[in-house]
Amino acid sequence: MSVSIMAPLLIFLLLAAVAGLPGTIKIGGLFHSTETLEELVFQYATQTINNDSMILHKRLMAIPEHVKSHDSLSVSDTVCRLLGQGVAGIFGPQAGSTSALVQSMCDTMDIPHVETSWDMKQRRQDFLVNLHPHPSTLARLYMELVSAWGWEKFTVLYEDGSSLVRLGNLVKTLDRQVTLRQLDAHGNHRQVLRDMRHSGERNIVLDCSMGTLPEVLKQAQQVGLMTSDQSYVITSLDLHTINLEPYQYGGTNITGVRMVDPNSKIVQSAVKNWGYLEARKGRNIGISSENITVSMALMHDAVQLFARALSRLDSPAVDIKPLDCESQNNWGHGTSLINFMKDGQSTLHGLTGVIQFDNEGFRTNIMLDIMELSYSGLERVGTWSTKDGLNIIRAVPPAPPHHSESLQNRTFRVITALSDPYGMRRQSSVPLKDNDRFEGFGIELIHELSLMLGFNYIFDLQLDNAYGSLNKKTGQWTGMIKKLRDEEADLAITDLTITSEREEAVDFTTPFMTLGIAILYKSPQKESPSLFSFMAPFTTGVWFCMFSVYMGVSILLWIMGRICPYEWNNPYPCIEEPEELENQFTLQNSLWFTIGSLMQQGSEIAPIAVSTRMVASIWWFFTLIMVSSYTANLAAFLTVETSTTPFKNVWELANQNVIKYGAKKGGSTVNFFRDSSDSRYQHMYAYMMRNQDEVLTSTNDEGLQKVKTQNYAYFMESTSIQYITERDCEVAQVGDLLDSKGYGIAIKKNSIYRNQLSTAVLKLQESGKLAKMKNRWWKEERGGGKCVDTGGSGNPSPLNIQNVGGVFVVLVAGLVLSCFMALFELLRNVYETAREKKVLFLQELMAEFRFIARCHGSTKPIRKYDNQDKEDSPPAEEGADPQNFVPLSIYGPTPYRH
Ligand code: GLU
Repeated sequence: MSVSIMAPLLIFLLLAAVAGLPGTIKIGGLFHSTETLEELVFQYATQTINNDSMILHKRLMAIPEHVKSHDSLSVSDTVCRLLGQGVAGIFGPQAGSTSALVQSMCDTMDIPHVETSWDMKQRRQDFLVNLHPHPSTLARLYMELVSAWGWEKFTVLYEDGSSLVRLGNLVKTLDRQVTLRQLDAHGNHRQVLRDMRHSGERNIVLDCSMGTLPEVLKQAQQVGLMTSDQSYVITSLDLHTINLEPYQYGGTNITGVRMVDPNSKIVQSAVKNWGYLEARKGRNIGISSENITVSMALMHDAVQLFARALSRLDSPAVDIKPLDCESQNNWGHGTSLINFMKDGQSTLHGLTGVIQFDNEGFRTNIMLDIMELSYSGLERVGTWSTKDGLNIIRAVPPAPPHHSESLQNRTFRVITALSDPYGMRRQSSVPLKDNDRFEGFGIELIHELSLMLGFNYIFDLQLDNAYGSLNKKTGQWTGMIKKLRDEEADLAITDLTITSEREEAVDFTTPFMTLGIAILYKSPQKESPSLFSFMAPFTTGVWFCMFSVYMGVSILLWIMGRICPYEWNNPYPCIEEPEELENQFTLQNSLWFTIGSLMQQGSEIAPIAVSTRMVASIWWFFTLIMVSSYTANLAAFLTVETSTTPFKNVWELANQNVIKYGAKKGGSTVNFFRDSSDSRYQHMYAYMMRNQDEVLTSTNDEGLQKVKTQNYAYFMESTSIQYITERDCEVAQVGDLLDSKGYGIAIKKNSIYRNQLSTAVLKLQESGKLAKMKNRWWKEERGGGKCVDTGGSGNPSPLNIQNVGGVFVVLVAGLVLSCFMALFELLRNVYETAREKKVLFLQELMAEFRFIARCHGSTKPIRKYDNQDKEDSPPAEEGADPQNFVPLSIYGPTPYRH
């Protein structure tokens, strides 16, 4: 074709086009004040069309108007104003009763009305096109999800009446047990969530607006309804736009539905385009493909659909004239335009998928993504389409990850029992809720662990105070251990003892406290001193040793006196050469001398020789120490009233039958007696079982009351005894610990969290935090430290042989030394005498020994030898050898004198 023919044809076509639709086509948009983003998308979508001449040859002009959701008058005014400006279609409003009004006005004027929010009506008006999937279509999807998840019973947690309308068949289903619960209108949903937890509701369909959803999820986590036991189906199509990280590690199965795929090219290019338009205005409202909402995407698709329908309408006969609400005129092309929009043949690929309508005007061919919250965020696990229904790639929720799994943001249900000071009710003048209700060592320990490991926790109370024991006949566990095994709780903490039996049923962390069984009994009663309390300062052993050394020293002194030549004296000092010598150390005198010094009195007897003086000195030293010790200890005995208990240890308690004894029912203490191989303990267990109604208690507190009011001894764990005796001075611990064990946090068997919890407990121990906590809860909080001064054993104890043994050793050493000295003195004297009298040394020595060996009498005749004057000699000593024996004073004229 030649250029000369082409040019007039082009001009003709151009004129024809210009003569069809006016150059600028106005479209009106009605928005509420909260719909800023939808309004922006409305404008940007229009500009996108204008920038792409392939879609429409004309320019679109967006006229956004703000309306109030319940003000019909102003809405109808606005619609009339828009119609007066000659709009080709009206978009919105998104919600509110006014949308019906706009629809009927558009119907009257034959102006297409485009809606993007859900609408329950079963018949679409002629001039209405709604891009939102019909709620009944979505309800069908939720039904299929509930079936795929195998929920026989579930709870529908809804916000208001419209939710129930929307969910339709889901709430009316008869083949499943459905519980309906409404969220709190004022935003505090904790009560309803708590009720759900208590009644064990695990499968939840949550239907609420996006404004409410984050708060509901947060509160669900706070009350412990966000654990691995719960599964949620969240109906909001905008689930992906909120931060789900806090719930992503807790193991809760959260399923949602997505209409906009942020990874699709069409979404990414639209968002990029909007960003570009934003940048041209010098703004950035932060829309990304990740946070684009369904209402924004539908608005974009609605404008696109409208523009494509307009382009099909674009013919010379078409005009758009302003319409007057007062007159009955209408737009002649409205019907065609709306039919082009609803035409099932045309397919538009929008941000929300293929946009097609059925004969009734409902959106059809919908394809949605099924999303599930996993440890790495929301993941697509399947699809749902109106044609093929649900197609889950993985129908079973993912298995919990393995050992290294973080506890971050997990919520543990922690069960505790009331036992001071591990778990106690917080005292408050106002009613407390949830975790605030409790305080104590165990509660603080869980809190510290949660800070270290980043988990959340919710405390629950074991109302019957049963910690858990195995019924050997039925094989059933009771109490908190049962709750862990039945997965009604994740952790258990109180003064829960780690036992081999329990360790088979559940796991325990490293012990956070060590202890042993002891006896709680009334504090020792004060006793008035006994008649023979003067004997108390020394033990019987010491008294016996004292008596022995007294006798020993006296006898030694007597013997030494006889051996030692210097103790033989002239009885008549004025006679220069006496016939015989006298010794003061007779046996009686020796006894008298030693007792005299022991009693601190002295006597007229005084030793003369070095050796006897040595004996006397060491004895005086001994008596000095012993008497001082006695006096000091006697003072203590007389000033301090001694306190006693009727028994000193467990065996004395077992061997009597006046004082009753018992322990906590089903506790590890009573089981210690049951499992012990010691027949004495078994005997005690048999006694407790025989009298169990009388002697076994449900709580430690009951045991304490029995101790105070009856003649009763209570077997209790030492840490608990320590706590009580810090506050109640009427009771005390008796005897030593019977065993040694520890308290741990119980967790269900083979839990992947045990190691992390144990490591954290160890870290708390190593940093000294546990010791500080213990000190505070035991000695400071709730009246601790009351019995510090009065408690403890102030009783003086008698000195035993270990206390005074050293003095005895010194005494014995001194005596041995003086024996040598005595021998030395004897030999020296014999030697000198033998030389002086010119007799044999041995002869003289034998004569001395013979005399000593006689051990008789306190006088000693002076021996005379043959070479001496016989006249002077006294008669020969009886038994003495007259041949060798010459009566002679060998003790010269100057014997020792004191
Ligand atoms: N700690 C014990 C237990 O875990 C309870 C108290 C007791 O038996 O003395 O069973």
